[in-house]
Amino acid sequence: MGGWGDAGVSRGIDIVARRVSMGCMGITALTWARTAIGMGWGMAEMIVIGGGVVGQSAAYQLARGGVAVTLIDRADVGQATAAGAGIISPGTGALGAGPLLPLASAAVAFYPDLLAHLAEDGETDTGFAICGGLFVATDEEEAAQLPARFRAIEERRAAGLRNIGTVAILDGREARRLFPPLADIPGAIHLSEVGRVNGRLLRDALRRAATRRGATLVEGSAEIVYSGGRATGVRVAGREIAADAVIITGGAWTNRLGEALGVTLPIYPQRGQIIHLDLPGVMTGKWPVILGSHSHYILAFPESRVVAGATREHDSGYDPRMTAGGVHEALGEALRVAPGLSGATLHEVRIGLRPASPDGLPILGALPGLDNVFVATGHGPSGLQLGPHSGAMVAGMAQGRAAGLDLGPFAATRFAK
Ligand SMILES: Cc1cc2nc3c(=O)[nH]c(=O)nc-3n(C[C@H](O)[C@H](O)[C@H](O)COP(=O)(O)OP(=O)(O)OC[C@H]3O[C@@H](n4cnc5c(N)ncnc54)[C@H](O)[C@@H]3O)c2cc1C
Repeated sequence: MGGWGDAGVSRGIDIVARRVSMGCMGITALTWARTAIGMGWGMAEMIVIGGGVVGQSAAYQLARGGVAVTLIDRADVGQATAAGAGIISPGTGALGAGPLLPLASAAVAFYPDLLAHLAEDGETDTGFAICGGLFVATDEEEAAQLPARFRAIEERRAAGLRNIGTVAILDGREARRLFPPLADIPGAIHLSEVGRVNGRLLRDALRRAATRRGATLVEGSAEIVYSGGRATGVRVAGREIAADAVIITGGAWTNRLGEALGVTLPIYPQRGQIIHLDLPGVMTGKWPVILGSHSHYILAFPESRVVAGATREHDSGYDPRMTAGGVHEALGEALRVAPGLSGATLHEVRIGLRPASPDGLPILGALPGLDNVFVATGHGPSGLQLGPHSGAMVAGMAQGRAAGLDLGPFAATRFAK
């Protein structure tokens, strides 16, 4: 493992690295030019720190693009990806007219390509499925708001947002036909193309595919080594790995990497406790996701699994414990909306620390002050939906490609003191 010069020498390839200025984003990045003697693409050395869904996606894209990449992961207890529910439903989220909407739009449009690429690489087991969703009203007050919600969803669909599909208002009986444990609710909006993914399976599929394409995985705690305004590599387990570019995808722990570099990345852990239930003998694989005007939800996976979540605990700190209050909240809300689940087997409680940011927006793009360091984090409750795309996007930026989106609202500089 060496710098990009070493890589070129060791592979006998005349690599030309060009620094380009990415004018509109005001950053610089490395691009790689084809060798003069036509021996194919030169190999850059890039390091990704963090092995959740965002980091695995970045590493996979780099490996797929022929870049020599090393992913370093500490596998912290509380990794968000390992606990995430996996709802893919930008049409129902509280995205407003803000910058999250174009980001979510690009992210869900990216999913089919990602899944196709993974399938080409022999990875089809991600748990991704289009299962539909029910936005439920649990009382008359919420029912009165369904028509306005319906119009807002239709507007998003008309604007080209995916994962919405056909939209219809259903009465309680029709809703229960789709999700039998539901309470006697007054009504719901059905969206035919809401999706779900299994975060653990997707993360592992990305990791295996990246490894097969030559990515190196290192377990340990990484520290960025820098001098003269750029990272020179990463220190892990007492050794130093040289790098041309470093991508930070450290989830809720990203702030610590920022602190070591003197850059403010005010990501904090937001604990989520989520309940896994089993309904033995019941085929749940086609049940829709249950959403509503509160932050709780229920979704199902094949074959008899129902997942009910989740708490959003802003003051949890780095404490990935299951608490009596958290379990009570998540279970109580699930049983209020779907009392038919009361006889289910309590299989497991998963706990994850979401990477939350003070303004609810992710941090994406170049890191101020170090011109070959990039960051993708802060996706909070939407990282399984947004994260694969964000990882791919910063991987592209690290290779000198444009983001394809206005990343101004997501720049780390917005937190500069
Ligand atoms: C209960 C719950 C439900 C959720 N439901 C949904 C949902 O329905 N839909 C959705 O889109 N999203 C959901 N999310 C959010 C989503 O899971 C997260 O936003 C996403 O997984 C974050 O991924 P990440 O890769 O940024 O971070 P993580 O998955 O937390 O991974 C970060 C990794 O970086 C490693 N790391 C950190 N620092 C270092 C270092 N210095 N050296 C080496 N390694 C390091 C950590 O050990 C960790 O493995 C949910 C989250 C939770 C907790």
